[in-house]
Amino acid sequence: PTTFKSIIYSNHNLEDCSSVLSLQNYQPKQNLSKSIVVRTLAFPINPSDINQLQGVYPSLPDKTYDYSTSEPSAIAGNEGVFEVISLPENKSSSFKIGDWVIPIRSNQGTWSNYRLFDRDNELVKVNGLDIYTAATVGVNGCTAYQLVNDYIKDWNPKENDWLVQNAGTSGVSKFVTQIAKAKGINSLSVIRDRDNFEEVAKTLEEKFGATKVISESQNYDKEFNKTILPKFLGPNPNIKLALNSVGGKSSGAIARKLQRDGLMLTYGGMSKQPVTLPTSLHIFKGLTSKGFWITDNVKRNPESKIEAVHEFVKLYTNGDIISPKDEIIPLTWDVKKFTDEQVLDLVKDGINSTGKKKLVVL
Ligand code: NDP
Repeated sequence: PTTFKSIIYSNHNLEDCSSVLSLQNYQPKQNLSKSIVVRTLAFPINPSDINQLQGVYPSLPDKTYDYSTSEPSAIAGNEGVFEVISLPENKSSSFKIGDWVIPIRSNQGTWSNYRLFDRDNELVKVNGLDIYTAATVGVNGCTAYQLVNDYIKDWNPKENDWLVQNAGTSGVSKFVTQIAKAKGINSLSVIRDRDNFEEVAKTLEEKFGATKVISESQNYDKEFNKTILPKFLGPNPNIKLALNSVGGKSSGAIARKLQRDGLMLTYGGMSKQPVTLPTSLHIFKGLTSKGFWITDNVKRNPESKIEAVHEFVKLYTNGDIISPKDEIIPLTWDVKKFTDEQVLDLVKDGINSTGKKKLVVL
């Protein structure tokens, strides 16, 4: 590589987080011949990346002077897929030139054209995945894998075992339904009401493996839950696990669907409302409500990420998981064609526009 280009920040801004970003050209301080040099192929813009720029995320990278800036800065982005382009001289490595790899830990800074790593154990191979899946396996894929696998591994799933989740249209939720299906568990996905509900529900059921999709208004509706939902669930359903990434009323309504001694895992708060749970569920139904954070899981046990990635790649190779390609809007960062300002504007537009996930492809 000739010039390293990274999208960096020194400060945070809650109201307009993209305003803190700039594109920096620099020469890295490390010796390239002693490093694993990787070229970024693609990175997504995730909710947690935005929360970091806003300054409201509890895990942040250290800010340093490594990027020739006047103030300490960090490179934005927590996940992305890289291609190995050179390996340390005179040192054996588990990687080969051309391998596709992702960072194991978060806060590595992925919004960059090239990155350097010191050791093999900072990266894990994702060869065999397409670019869209590879760029999103590290956060959404591993989260979905752990949310399903780590809590059901002792179940020995039966025909009538279910999990329920809200934000059924999210990237994580679509991986959850596919992984659950592969493991023989039914999934009930709750999605927000919308004009094209039937169409979206059909796609989630037919393409992404959701067993049944219902709307948020149905989720809260007592009559629906008493008379119609049981028909969807079949005889003696065991809803054992609720996955909550919304909070507020939605979290209470999915928790109510759990059987006795059920578990609710909260991993996101898209509605920005507190998780509200009926007291009676705790007292009379033995509900357990816990938080889930992939960042912390991986910090405590990096092996858990490697295992999740390997298992995810196996599921993908078996055809159990499809590429999120159609659900993603690709944005092209072409250094040969675009000025630094244009690249920065492209990323800022990705941050500021809502809806489908944006993936910056280099
Ligand atoms: P996506 O951007 O793919 O999806 C966002 C989802 O949130 C959509 O389903 C959207 O529904 C829904 N949504 C948006 N606004 C609201 C709202 N006001 N009320 C209810 N639902 C809303 O997200 P990801 O899959 O990348 O992430 C999903 C969540 O999981 C995020 O909160 C993220 O921070 C969290 N997460 C947590 C992790 C952890 O370890 N704890 C790891 C990975 C993600 P709609 O289609 O109706 O717009």
